[in-house]
Amino acid sequence: MNRIFQSEQEAAAVLRDAGLKATPQRLAILRALSGDVTHPTAQELYERLATHFPALSVATVYNTLAALTRVERCRPLDLGGPARFDPNVAPHDHAVCERCGEIRDVKAAETRPKPRALTGFSVRRVEHIYRGLCAKCAGT
Ligand SMILES: [Zn+2]
Ligand SMILES: [Zn+2]
Repeated sequence: MNRIFQSEQEAAAVLRDAGLKATPQRLAILRALSGDVTHPTAQELYERLATHFPALSVATVYNTLAALTRVERCRPLDLGGPARFDPNVAPHDHAVCERCGEIRDVKAAETRPKPRALTGFSVRRVEHIYRGLCAKCAGT
């Protein structure tokens, strides 16, 4: 499930929940991220929107994504480079192609055993990253 909102009214409500005014720029950021399966960075979303919103800045995109993250409408994904943002907040894993950089959602296993070495540690979330080659890059 990677849609952040279903209707335009809901889109404005999501922004208000995040403590933001529903400006046309912020609605466009929300629309751009909702349903996006590429796990874009703030810079990538900015580049997609900049032609329509010449006054838009990367900082506005980043701040909007940070506010949406705080209310769990999206989730940051740390793959080592600039933060990526995931509209899919359900628990899932990721597969990353080491050649073209494609990032794919992978359904997480229902339950995962907690390593015994983690006694005395309260696990909130486990995320796996599978690294390899996508079908296109592997030439299969
Ligand atoms: Zn690839
Ligand atoms: Zn994802």
